[in-house]
Amino acid sequence: MLDALTAPPASELDGLREAASACTRCRLHQGRTQVVFGVGNPDADLMFVGEAPGFHEDQQGIPFVGQAGKLLDRLLEGIGLARAEVYIANTLKCRPPGNRDPMPDEKQECEPWLFRQIELIRPKVIATLGNHATKQLTGKETGITRVHGQPQPVTYGTTHVTIYPLFHPAAALYTPAMLKVLEEDFARLPALLQREVTPPAPFLSVVPEPEPEQAAVQLGLF
Ligand code: URA
Repeated sequence: MLDALTAPPASELDGLREAASACTRCRLHQGRTQVVFGVGNPDADLMFVGEAPGFHEDQQGIPFVGQAGKLLDRLLEGIGLARAEVYIANTLKCRPPGNRDPMPDEKQECEPWLFRQIELIRPKVIATLGNHATKQLTGKETGITRVHGQPQPVTYGTTHVTIYPLFHPAAALYTPAMLKVLEEDFARLPALLQREVTPPAPFLSVVPEPEPEQAAVQLGLF
């Protein structure tokens, strides 16, 4: 019989977690206590992606366990969901020193873990918390102040997802006006979860179609 040390991981997501726990792809591995991979329901319809682990997350190995996490739990409760029903992760899996902003190369190196996580969980909606997660997962540079509360269809590989940008709970903790907007945006999540995920519209080609005769020449028919 296989013992706990030699048994294969129970799921692909567990296997990914195990692989990520030994990650040395960027400098952040040097200062971490542990990798903060993600927690929650591996079949969740709703996934949250924050920025990066802070002090408490690095200590406990669980995302959003500090003050911002408590607010996130309260907001979830407000829409009738428990933390265990959703999946919570970050763009970076390791704590940046002094809680500084993630650096572009760190985000780039960490991105494959997040994208694979998304492919395995296949959520219907990903609520991106704050600027870093929103820009990374929409692939656009538009800031959170302009896009919060606006669902956007996105495809990763074969996974169609609705990205729903939200203000970061840590920012809302100290700005009552932002908290109000975050609560209002949060209140629209249940309806969004009921909606069919529509794949993004294909890009329209800006290259004009060749005239039939020209096309035939290109194909070597004349
Ligand atoms: N805790 C996290 O896990 N992520 C954040 O973005 C902030 C706090």
